[in-house]
Amino acid sequence: MRILDHDAVRRAYPMDRAIGLMAGAMRDYSAGTITQPLRTILRPASDSALLGTMPCHVAGEDGAPRGFGIKAMVLKPDNPARGLELHLGVVLVFDPDTGSPLALMNASAVTAVRTAAVSAVATRELAREDAGDLAILGSGVQARSHLEAMSLVRRLHRVRVWSRTPDNAAAFRDWAAGSLGVQVEVAGSVGEALKDADLVCTTTATRDPLVEAEMLAPGVHVNAVGASFIDCRELSSRAVASARVFVDSRESAGKESLDLRAPRDEGLVGEDHILAELGEVLLGTAEGRTASDDVTLYKSLGLAAQDVVSGFAVARRAAELNLGTEVSIG
Ligand code: NDP
Repeated sequence: MRILDHDAVRRAYPMDRAIGLMAGAMRDYSAGTITQPLRTILRPASDSALLGTMPCHVAGEDGAPRGFGIKAMVLKPDNPARGLELHLGVVLVFDPDTGSPLALMNASAVTAVRTAAVSAVATRELAREDAGDLAILGSGVQARSHLEAMSLVRRLHRVRVWSRTPDNAAAFRDWAAGSLGVQVEVAGSVGEALKDADLVCTTTATRDPLVEAEMLAPGVHVNAVGASFIDCRELSSRAVASARVFVDSRESAGKESLDLRAPRDEGLVGEDHILAELGEVLLGTAEGRTASDDVTLYKSLGLAAQDVVSGFAVARRAAELNLGTEVSIG
């Protein structure tokens, strides 16, 4: 079995490659060739942390990833204050022929890339062609990978960031200039960041809504990434009600998203407010954006399919590049 740390995963899994792979994964998920249960979230009463387990089987053809895999990760709310990542865990993929463990890898690196890559696919499908005024809420791991991913699918002419901790927003600005060569403006408020933006990525760990309907400009596309558990929201109910809504999975959206459940519970929207899965748009069985002034919203929750397809791709590329360490577990 090959063991791959954060750096090895990132070297084996560049963002441009991930975008193509994730488009395929989302298409396969909606076409029904991927078998996966809803993830399990274990929340012990005695601990503020949670354990998420996300297994799946992918049935890729023509050389595409195939076989079983699982992501297991612990989310510790206090970790960022300790200088650690919010989620820590592993992705494990199994040899498709024998079922023996093939590769075990750092899940944070996989999650950072795959989540932003799927948002890039959503942006390519749903944002206006000329969208290039990007606002990012949050300045952490996902904010960084989203800036990289957005810059690959749209020509960005302005980028603003807002973060709860101004020093972290400034550090993000400096990182963007140094690592990606992208100039970023630090906004003093969420409203200031979003004003006239036509592309928005929300990547915060807030529990309460930050984005109000009136902050969203006509024609904007929003990738809402942060609130990926049922007790968190980034968007107000009216903001969601004002948008054409797309999701990674109807099943997950129905059960795991408070952003989507709250406006339904409040009677602002019906069950049919979720228009389609991203994969259905990719398959051509559902319509995406219909007008240049539509507000489109892609609500990302994260799927095992994304982790496992990524895991197989990382394992294959790492073997080609001889990255990581081979161990025998008998
Ligand atoms: P990081 O810890 O790296 O970043 C968290 C960000 O959230 C920081 O910018 C922080 O701001 C901000 N934040 C934290 N609490 C609040 C608050 N109360 N109000 C406003 N902002 C806040 O985490 P990640 O980037 O890894 O993850 C970000 C979010 O995305 C998390 O909620 C995570 O669960 C979710 N996620 C979703 C995935 C999906 O597939 N949809 C996949 C992975 C993560 P500051 O530093 O300025 O204080």
